[in-house]
Amino acid sequence: AKAAGRNNAQWFEPTMLEDINDKLSLSARLRQALVARELSTVYQPQIDLRTGMLVGFEALARWWAPDIGSVSPERFIPVAEDSGLIQELGGWVLRKACADIAELQHELGRTLRLAVNVSPRQLRGTSWLDEVLAALAESGLEPGQLELEITEGLLIDDHGDAVDLLDRMRDHGVRIVVDDFGRGYSSLAYLTRFPIDKIKIDKSFVHQIESVDAGAAIVDAIIVMAHALGLAVVAEGVETTEQRRYLSARECDEVQGYLYSHGLPRDEVAAAVRRIEAG
Ligand code: C2E
Ligand code: CA
Ligand code: CA
Ligand code: CA
Repeated sequence: AKAAGRNNAQWFEPTMLEDINDKLSLSARLRQALVARELSTVYQPQIDLRTGMLVGFEALARWWAPDIGSVSPERFIPVAEDSGLIQELGGWVLRKACADIAELQHELGRTLRLAVNVSPRQLRGTSWLDEVLAALAESGLEPGQLELEITEGLLIDDHGDAVDLLDRMRDHGVRIVVDDFGRGYSSLAYLTRFPIDKIKIDKSFVHQIESVDAGAAIVDAIIVMAHALGLAVVAEGVETTEQRRYLSARECDEVQGYLYSHGLPRDEVAAAVRRIEAG
């Protein structure tokens, strides 16, 4: 396993995973984790490229337990989706993140935006809109400060229900972001048909800015097209100053990535913001 992984946690050992599979399935273990408060959230800064100021955060779920160490969301989110736990997990992340961002606003003395990931399955049933409105009311955040990150697949596979729900959230002022843009379907037609405010360029394209001949041209085309449609653009996975320079020259609106910061526990955010904005 990669010791000291990117998030300063020890990554999950394959042998440990087998152990869990033997004793208890990962979904049953995740169910316990929700009760035992083994889940947490970290916040990755998003920076306005024009001003260099931090404008908000993406909330990312984390799972650590003494017996199994750290489990990557790449592993436990699909398990949560398949087992139906994603509704509970997603609701918890939403409430926790809204509460933390409200506190951080106080600490930093400014208004902040919060982006939360939403799995397609979370939109099934009718309670998600109520959960969103409750989390906003409890925390005091305005709907316009909340962004819900959904995937292209949701827009394309859906038979109307989820899109109706997104529409209703937007009526309340919540913003909808297409995550991992370009990765899945690369069908652009839906951009004009669906209720969205912003797209997030997938990190695989950002990483091709320097390394693949057509990489920079593809990123440029995505930004131009999004702006032509009146959508904002954020790029994820920005790791190098060359990538930032290119995105800035092409008038990408916002960036996030390891160049600025990893996802941070709430208590480490304020110091990181000061460091980022000091340049
Ligand atoms: P995502 O939404 O595309 O999130 C971006 C992922 O890229 C995060 O991985 C983040 O830590 C990582 N990342 C950030 N900056 C960089 C960078 O500069 N370079 C590289 N190579 N990677 C970077 P993480 O935290 O492991 O999350 C993985 C995925 O798990 C997320 O992908 C998202 O789809 C899912 N996920 C995480 N938290 C939640 C959640 O609360 N709810 C749902 N439904 N999904 C979640
Ligand atoms: Ca995301
Ligand atoms: Ca992504
Ligand atoms: Ca994703």
